Amino acid sequence: MTVESDLGVRIERNAPSKLYPFLRYFRGFDGVPTVRKLFGPQTARALRSLKVEFFSARFGYMGTSDVDGHLLISSHHLKDSEFRTVYLDIVHELCHVKQFRSGKALFYPKLSYVDAPSEIEAYRLTIEEGRRIGMTNRQLVDYLKVEWITPAEHRRLARRCGLVWASDKARPHRKRIRR
Ligand SMILES: [Zn+2]
Repeated sequence: MTVESDLGVRIERNAPSKLYPFLRYFRGFDGVPTVRKLFGPQTARALRSLKVEFFSARFGYMGTSDVDGHLLISSHHLKDSEFRTVYLDIVHELCHVKQFRSGKALFYPKLSYVDAPSEIEAYRLTIEEGRRIGMTNRQLVDYLKVEWITPAEHRRLARRCGLVWASDKARPHRKRIRR
């Protein structure tokens, strides 16, 4: 094994990550009915304590840390994606934040992405919110079409979210890393 002393270098391996208050960048989510349903009377407080980290890599969208429950957001996604996609992604991630704070697992390494209970719950909530803001069945099916799932998984996820299957063989509307 190569150790630092052999190479004459030193690497500080505890890198800091820069965290910002969620409320500095995302306002009004405490008034969104599906978000209120998640956190209940504690909604405002829950969002006040939430932190967000931005990353600039040209891949990936959003995620929730399974170490401390903060949000990770691609600054490119935030800036360039369709507004509604960003909005729904935030609702989705808030569901993961709630799961994390309730002590539930976020990752299920042995299950496919669309079979993970954490994802099914988050997507159901997201679809509920999408319906509330007037999105059509087709738009919601398209929202679920992400690059890292197969057509069969896409179909399964849509069904689990109570959507009517309406495939147009469209390319995924975005790429992504993990969640
Ligand atoms: Zn997710």
